[in-house]
Amino acid sequence: MKETIGWIGVGSMGHRMSRHLVAAGYPLVVADAVSTERAPEGAQVANSNAEVAARADIIILSLPDGPASVAVAREIAQAKPRRAKVVIDTSTIGTKAAEEAATTLQAAGVTFIDAPVSGGTSGADKATIAIMMACAPDAFERYKPLMALMGKPFHVGPKPGQGQAVKVLNNFLSATALAATSEAIAFGTGQGIEMKTILDIVNASSGRNSATDDKFPNRIMHGRFDAGFTAKLQLKDINLYLENARAAGIPDQIASTVVDVWTRMDASLPGADITEMYPYTQKGRSRSGRS
Ligand code: NAD
Repeated sequence: MKETIGWIGVGSMGHRMSRHLVAAGYPLVVADAVSTERAPEGAQVANSNAEVAARADIIILSLPDGPASVAVAREIAQAKPRRAKVVIDTSTIGTKAAEEAATTLQAAGVTFIDAPVSGGTSGADKATIAIMMACAPDAFERYKPLMALMGKPFHVGPKPGQGQAVKVLNNFLSATALAATSEAIAFGTGQGIEMKTILDIVNASSGRNSATDDKFPNRIMHGRFDAGFTAKLQLKDINLYLENARAAGIPDQIASTVVDVWTRMDASLPGADITEMYPYTQKGRSRSGRS
């Protein structure tokens, strides 16, 4: 018989990811502090996180931030009765919160696996997200087949927080690429060169990055600003990167500038998709509001 999976947090990512487990035949028990309306069909709904801890063998979290993960880890650690022996956290929470959640759960005899994801809601739908698992090698082997139902699991290393480190450094690089490419393309088109020509050449040259080979040619060039990821969510990730890098004593000149640019963009265009960085840059980044 398959183990029962508990799922806490059925928001934008959680309801999409958890669906794949039901489809694979796993009994699923879900809880959410606000609404379980988006729980996958076939899942059972629990009234509390403690009830999930009592009913499930393995608990997966998809929560908004570090404070939520740490609070839920504490609830699971204190739950009586508790059946769950492992908690796999797919939330983006930064290194410190992951270490804190791990310490809390490990003191209660529960294994914590740090497992943030990348690939957005479309990747969650298609089960193509990257899953960055930090845990002991035997735990990785044990839970890899389960996580592979939702995406591509990678073993980052043995320490909780290492998955978060890769997640936030990746998002720092991708946010930097989009902000820098927006400036470069605004410059190039200002010289009278077609955007497509610039992209074709850069993508065959050394400036190629995730903005030049995906976001610009597939969306921005066609006037589509629909990557499905808001500047606000991206800011959460790059602020975590900046905080974690500073705490580690790593130089942060570029990260500070990138966070500043995205903070101004988000303040200027509340709710904007990340791809709106280009029109915002074209307009000189100084004016506020959409025109
Ligand atoms: P979301 O806000 O849509 O979902 C989070 C859910 O957690 C909500 O339904 C909320 O009610 C629930 N919740 C909050 N506190 C709770 C608690 N104490 N107990 C039970 N439930 C609680 O967020 P999301 O977009 O699904 O993202 C989830 C995580 O995945 C975040 O950490 C995010 O940074 C990360 N992530 C998101 C994306 C994306 O494209 N949305 C991509 C990669 C990673």
